[in-house]
Amino acid sequence: MTDRTAHRPGAFIATLAIATWLSAFAPTTRAELGTTTPTPETALHAKTLPDAIPPSHLAPLPPTRQAPPPLVIRGAAVFRDGAFSPSAAVVTENGRIVAVVPPGDAIPVPAGAIEIDGTGRFLLPGFIDGHSHVSHLFPQAGVPVEEILPDYLRNGITTLRATGDTIDVQLRVRAYSEAHPDLAPRLVMASPLFDKSPPYHAGVSLAITDPEQVPPFVASMSELGVQTFKIYVGMDRRIGSAIIHEAHRHGRWASAHLRKYHPLEAIEDGIDSVEHIESVFNFLTPPEVPEWLLRDERMHMSVMAVESLRRKILEEQVKTDYSHPRATGLISAFARNGVMVNPTLIVYRSWMLLSDTPETREHPDLQRTPRRLVEYWDSLAHHAGASPETQALRRRQFAKLQELTGLLHRSGVELLVGTDAPFPYVPPGYSFHQELELMVESGVPPAAVLMAATRNNARAINLSSELGEIAPGRLADLVLLDANPLDDIRHSRRIVAVVRSGILLTLPARPAEARSADVPAGPQAKG
Ligand SMILES: [Zn+2]
Repeated sequence: MTDRTAHRPGAFIATLAIATWLSAFAPTTRAELGTTTPTPETALHAKTLPDAIPPSHLAPLPPTRQAPPPLVIRGAAVFRDGAFSPSAAVVTENGRIVAVVPPGDAIPVPAGAIEIDGTGRFLLPGFIDGHSHVSHLFPQAGVPVEEILPDYLRNGITTLRATGDTIDVQLRVRAYSEAHPDLAPRLVMASPLFDKSPPYHAGVSLAITDPEQVPPFVASMSELGVQTFKIYVGMDRRIGSAIIHEAHRHGRWASAHLRKYHPLEAIEDGIDSVEHIESVFNFLTPPEVPEWLLRDERMHMSVMAVESLRRKILEEQVKTDYSHPRATGLISAFARNGVMVNPTLIVYRSWMLLSDTPETREHPDLQRTPRRLVEYWDSLAHHAGASPETQALRRRQFAKLQELTGLLHRSGVELLVGTDAPFPYVPPGYSFHQELELMVESGVPPAAVLMAATRNNARAINLSSELGEIAPGRLADLVLLDANPLDDIRHSRRIVAVVRSGILLTLPARPAEARSADVPAGPQAKG
């Protein structure tokens, strides 16, 4: 989601213009991601995550190069195919899972292994945040991305699926993460947003006006390791279909935040997934309902006219009938063609619709997020001062989005799990658990939500054979919980250990940082 903050001057100045994305070929300088000293090892050789990495920008951190000691996790219930089964042990060596030992069988204990008691505990594949950004908002908030990356690991997220950032920033973050798997989740790169000209978000987009431009961009980005090619809101079918075609020619994943390009056309053209529930929802309203306009289309309108249009659309959208053939036809097209939907409900609750409600503004997760980031989000605050009627409408709208998420699942549409962090009030890492909770609240059973967060998300980064499942040969990315998340999805937060690439991480919580009481609320718009 890169939408309604866009009209605020300066809110979306990207770190580096896409025009310079070719500078990605220049040697990576870790000085810009450089941090402090290596983290100390505990007696167990487990890596302890720092509370925060000061943004020194001075001394590059020496890479973590030594192979991690083998691990033997004894007696945990292992998540596979949507259920937990007992195990004698899960054994890792050289960063990979080497054995999942059934109860009663002998356990091969490698020399020098760290033993972990998993009795009464629940072992899952490392979580994957299926929609994240590493160059949005952090610079404006004065928060270097490397300060945030440990928060993902702390929350069991061992891999990030990027969904629209500049190539050069992603290359730097990926290099940092590869050098320091004990400090950062793995980053799987995405293209910038492929959009019309001028693009909606100039800093992180690539405007394409001619299908002939598509093949060289897709080829060069694929070579750099881009896995997700993302079509953005202004893109039409003529160029969108060329992107899908070229992405597939290179064995890559094509996804879209749809607006100009109709989902039925994108599905026919072979799209793999859509980002945000609105890429489905916005196409279910009757054609006579006015369409929300892109920023450049509403530039000539008065503030009053924009607000009245917004309200009119909201009033019509909350009446959307999911039993209408327009809805059933589109939903079954998603299911029939195996096109996945990444709802990102949390960004709708926390920013797009309910940013002024207590459930968002007083969420305890904000206490664990760097204060500079939360205060920056406060400065972008919108919706403040909305009438109770407008707020009630927005709540009904969010309920409709949740209802649709549950309906998609029951209709056989495969879901992904993504957050859109660091959009305002979508705290990196912690928001992943909020998204799991919102999906379950929408009627998706916990087992299906956890499969989406692991197996499905691994598919969307083309790493099904490496991640998303606990099996011999896979990368050793694991999360150990002390309570069953199938009983209560909130147990996904009860993390006792995280393993990233075979490295056992201990996870002291980031100390709570209270927000200063006297922070000005920032510019406010009537919502
Ligand atoms: Zn996004």
